[in-house]
Amino acid sequence: MTTDSEAKSTATVGADKVVSLEYVLTDPKGKELDRSADGQPLVYLHGARNIVPGLEEALVGKTTGDALEVEVPPEKGYGVSRKLKSMRMLRSKFPADADIKKGARFMMQGPEGKPMPVWVSKVMGRQVHITPEHPLAGVTLHFDVKVGEIRDATEEEKTHGHVHGPGGHDHGDEEE
Ligand code: ZN
Repeated sequence: MTTDSEAKSTATVGADKVVSLEYVLTDPKGKELDRSADGQPLVYLHGARNIVPGLEEALVGKTTGDALEVEVPPEKGYGVSRKLKSMRMLRSKFPADADIKKGARFMMQGPEGKPMPVWVSKVMGRQVHITPEHPLAGVTLHFDVKVGEIRDATEEEKTHGHVHGPGGHDHGDEEE
């Protein structure tokens, strides 16, 4: 593991790199919204919109060990709030094993038959309120990030648009 430290130290974040990140996400009041688990950094494929655009842009050119604070406006985060009305759906319309709770994300058939993400905004008995708006739409995001390991993405990862292996996407039986 020590022999390739030289190669790692020169790698910088950019397109087609797989990057490990430790992060803490807070809202403008300093309330913690999310963080990477201890010893389990977020591993993402750069340039594939795996993370919000504002954070992705700020990381370009950074290298292993760099720590930075990034303020991401809604336009470069989860979008501006469109104040969309929530819709009501019966709980029975969801898969039986679905974990239905506030903030949970589901895919629905959109107006043109395309899959569309929706989020649960409220659960009231058998009625589930859903909205097409991300729970963090309209929120300015504050990230404290530390860049960990950086490596080249494999051809397969580039094709899929996400990371495979530890910290990444698990295709189950397709992978060793
Ligand atoms: Zn894949």
